[in-house]
Amino acid sequence: MSRVYNFSAGPAVLPEEVLEEARDEMLDYKGTGMSVMEMSHRSKAYDTIIKEAEQDLRDLMNIPDNYKVIFLQGGASLLFAGVPMNLMKNGKAAYIITGQWAKKAYQEAQKYGEAVSVASSADKTFSYIPDCSDLDIPEDADYVYICENNTIYGTKFKTLPNTKGKELVADVSSCFLSEPVDVTKYGVIYGGVQKNVGPSGVQVVIVREDLIADGPALKYTPTMMDWKIQADNDSLYNTPPCYGIYICGKVFKWIKKMGGLEAMKAHNEKKAKILYDFLDESKLFKGTVAPEDRSLMNVPFVTGNEELDKKFVAEATKAGFVNLKGHRTVGGMRASIYNAMPIEGVEKLVDFMKKFEEENA
Ligand SMILES: *Cc1c(COP(=O)(O)O)cnc(C)c1O
Repeated sequence: MSRVYNFSAGPAVLPEEVLEEARDEMLDYKGTGMSVMEMSHRSKAYDTIIKEAEQDLRDLMNIPDNYKVIFLQGGASLLFAGVPMNLMKNGKAAYIITGQWAKKAYQEAQKYGEAVSVASSADKTFSYIPDCSDLDIPEDADYVYICENNTIYGTKFKTLPNTKGKELVADVSSCFLSEPVDVTKYGVIYGGVQKNVGPSGVQVVIVREDLIADGPALKYTPTMMDWKIQADNDSLYNTPPCYGIYICGKVFKWIKKMGGLEAMKAHNEKKAKILYDFLDESKLFKGTVAPEDRSLMNVPFVTGNEELDKKFVAEATKAGFVNLKGHRTVGGMRASIYNAMPIEGVEKLVDFMKKFEEENA
């Protein structure tokens, strides 16, 4: 068996230890004589799995008691509708457009109410985060929406926007659990887990209780997308994505063992620095993002020559560094260096880039 260094943006690399544990438990989960895949979601064994997953996540993120944690399915993209359906009580919300995922969320929200774009970085192909210190936020907006880490373009909000008292809603799909967060600054934190936490098919929503106390803003909201019903049923209204939640739970335990989110942040900063420092000194490769807005998780770069980009991706793949091709809308390369990417993966990638640079100078 040989494992590659997988720089995929998502689904993405998971900790090897977690995969090994899941393998060991595949046929007989803790003496139950069955796989977690074969188990009733109402069983005692599964109840422990989902409760521990929630508790470990609460411990990791220091989630206050007045926030609900729910596990859902349908992709982060389904939540582009779920957010306005649950929260647009006045029928209006402010969106900050920093990339394709934010734009999709904004467009989806327009189906359900008035979504207003209050800032955008589309003018420079989303290569920076706009100044959000004094935005023109409508008085009656229910929330301000951001995509906190822009997976495709490689930017991250280093300071949260001034929402002028409105609730902040953040899609954190690609920076979930990559560093500590102050949950109290948000009304809703949500994300798909397949970027940094687990297998696709699971979304986590962390929502302040009072925002959903009266049920969804839009009365026709499907039951499955009604966060109050999901919260009241401890994410077990129907059959949840059981196996995915089980793997997420293992990843939460792995992060705890690694030292929690402070340790993750240090680990991620170290990796990102190795790559960005090289990009800054390289004569061939260039980062595409405003340095102050660089993501710790997704690092896009180019040579400036499409043919050479292609050659790099092909040779890297052969050498065991896979999924480095940039998003189809951006081109070039992108290295996603999520929590589970070891430091040596980034060091070896940089060595490989140096060699490629020498050979192609
Ligand atoms: C990948 C991604 C999505 C879309 O996730 P799906 O689960 O495929 O719907 C949304 N937002 C961000 C920030 C992402 O990185």
